[in-house]
Amino acid sequence: MTEPRRIAQVAIAAPLRRAFDYLLPAGIRRRAGPGWRVLVPFGRGREAVGVILECRARSEYPAAGLKPVIRLLDDEPVFDPPQLAWLLWAGRYYHHPVGEAVFNALPARLRKKRKFDQVKPACWGLTEAGRAFDPARLKKSPAQARLLDYLRQRQRPAHECEFGQSPARPQRTLNALLNKGLIVKTEAPTRPRIKKGVRLNQEQRHAVNAILAAPAGHGVFLLDGVTGSGKTEVYLALLEPTLRAGRQCLLLLPEIGLIPQLIRRCRARFNMPIAILHSGLTELERLRHWQQARSGEARLVLGARSAVWTPLARPGLYIIDEEHDLSYKQQDGFRYHARDMLIKRAARDGVKIILGSATPSLESLLNVRRRRYSLVRLTRRAGRASLPAFRLLDIRGRKMRGALSQDLVDEIGSHLAAGNQALLFLNRRGYAVHVYCHQCAWHAECRRCERPYTYHKKINGLRCHHCGGRQRPVTHCPACNAALLFLGHGTERIEEQLRRLFPAAAIARIDRDTARGKAALTRLLDEAQSARANILLGTQMLAKGHHFPAVTLTAIIDADRGLFSADFRAAERLAQLLTQVSGRAGRGSEPGAVTIQTHYPGHTLFHAVTGRGYAAFAAELLRERQLSRLPPFACMALLRAEARAGGAAEHFLAEALAEFKRLGQPAVELCGPLPALIEKRAGRERYQLVLQAGDRNSLHQNLDAWLKRLETLQSAGRVRWSLDIDPHDMS
Ligand code: ADP
Ligand code: ZN
Ligand code: ZN
Repeated sequence: MTEPRRIAQVAIAAPLRRAFDYLLPAGIRRRAGPGWRVLVPFGRGREAVGVILECRARSEYPAAGLKPVIRLLDDEPVFDPPQLAWLLWAGRYYHHPVGEAVFNALPARLRKKRKFDQVKPACWGLTEAGRAFDPARLKKSPAQARLLDYLRQRQRPAHECEFGQSPARPQRTLNALLNKGLIVKTEAPTRPRIKKGVRLNQEQRHAVNAILAAPAGHGVFLLDGVTGSGKTEVYLALLEPTLRAGRQCLLLLPEIGLIPQLIRRCRARFNMPIAILHSGLTELERLRHWQQARSGEARLVLGARSAVWTPLARPGLYIIDEEHDLSYKQQDGFRYHARDMLIKRAARDGVKIILGSATPSLESLLNVRRRRYSLVRLTRRAGRASLPAFRLLDIRGRKMRGALSQDLVDEIGSHLAAGNQALLFLNRRGYAVHVYCHQCAWHAECRRCERPYTYHKKINGLRCHHCGGRQRPVTHCPACNAALLFLGHGTERIEEQLRRLFPAAAIARIDRDTARGKAALTRLLDEAQSARANILLGTQMLAKGHHFPAVTLTAIIDADRGLFSADFRAAERLAQLLTQVSGRAGRGSEPGAVTIQTHYPGHTLFHAVTGRGYAAFAAELLRERQLSRLPPFACMALLRAEARAGGAAEHFLAEALAEFKRLGQPAVELCGPLPALIEKRAGRERYQLVLQAGDRNSLHQNLDAWLKRLETLQSAGRVRWSLDIDPHDMS
């Protein structure tokens, strides 16, 4: 007879690098197993939610000292064994506390002790009254009218998760309609129905066939397709057999703003429940969508970075769009990379994964070269669209209208006159970038970051874009009382300028100031797509993935800032950005043009990107990285530290460095401690120590032992520190 497994090893939602042993009382021992949520005593008189990692017969600790599990929280485990194994692997890979790695994968509601099967997603249909009701009478509540209209057009009950993003608050809207007696909860299940899509062109067909024909099971495919080449249509075509086989697809996008557009395209094609997971949802919505994905009800699961953790009952296909995008890397807390996690997940689940991009990351390109990924290419734009022509606009000495050269103003004018849209890109929000005294050189600066404040006109305030700090505006110099100058241009100021230059044009400005909240962003993007707006102006929110068919001109107002960055990834990023922004032009039937304003028209980077294209430039960058032994030809980790007390961060890193050397790992090169690119933020000095090795094993081997030592250092108590594995942002 085997010994009863009376010990549960439990991960607690806390930044602790270990799990804890508890006794399993006889009453729950039979049911409990890995992946179950439990309530356990933790600390003095407190309770904590935990997840069982393993049940064992014995503990390393004396049983007398162990406390019993209080109870199981749910009727089933929240993670199945393969998913739990994957989460634990992720925690180990990033050397991140196990409790945080596990709980990070749960919706916020399940990090608390609430039972998870309390909410059951429902199916809704129209009542007699609802069928007879004219939605136009709901003029005052457009969300209700839309939902009612949706149910009427469909003529069949719809699952809650099919409502997707509109309305933004389905529960409120559903309850209101329920109270009016217009809809009822019904049982009718919805089976996916599939409509025919567009006729794929030859390249697309070839791409789809190549992926489908590859051996079943795991495989990574890099879909390298120029902007507008119809990658999304390829995804949809691949979705079809997945859905027919009764399997689910998880698709990640880099921006919440791209989700509504994709939902629309999916809805037009497939009639099936879609779950959506991103940070814009309420906790309850998130929980519902999570459950629908987990139960297998939702066939397609869409989301931004954090959706990578969504459990699926029957995974069939994974897709990550714009795989090169920086937003897939979480920059604080659990610093994971969603693409890398999804690739590992696909391998574990034995499914295919598609990485799509017009500007693939150097990491992925190298993996193609090393034959770990298969390359599938789309070299031409789909339909009748052609790739736009680049123009480097040398603005040295040219007449300027604010940040816009007269040449650019004229060009915009001619595109508008032809009835087309122009898209202007500037990665800087706010009004003025410098508030400056011409008499004594005083300038408004965030003292906590030692960086200039940005002036925001609409709210009439100064904002620090590094720490979020704010201050009331000043009009006169506090030192000499002279009137201050407001220098530099952010999107808010350019909008003002454009209104003066083109009084008849409708302008949609899309940045984090105008697109606060999901509803505002959706409204602005709708406006941009509908051609109701003539000029689209925005930050990176506008640069990614969107399809604006009427845009014929895109202009990059200031391309120079990225040319001189100290980050080794800066050139790759700038090339990606230029290519992506330009990719917004000429996606309809009219040809597109791209204008880049610059003071450095001779810069090699511009010529490389505009002349030979991204692929050739990327190949060149790869050669440089190889020569200088930088990622992806090396593995990197970054130990960051910040502290209020002068010198404390540097001191801690110096000690950390000494500790690492004591562990003896000659294959790892260390660099630092050095000040970070942003030396100070929110009153804290920032330093970093770079660790690098030619292979992953050498780098990772000693990290756990090292981290344990760091935690015991006295100097660690005076700093905030963190380890970033495969860092992507060196600032
Ligand atoms: P990408 O995702 O590569 O940027 P999309 O899939 O959004 O490209 O396609 C760009 C545009 O081309 C869309 O309007 C899409 O409907 C259209 N399109 C894609 N494939 C085809 C095709 N085979 N025939 C006609 N139009 C297509
Ligand atoms: Zn002054
Ligand atoms: Zn600041």
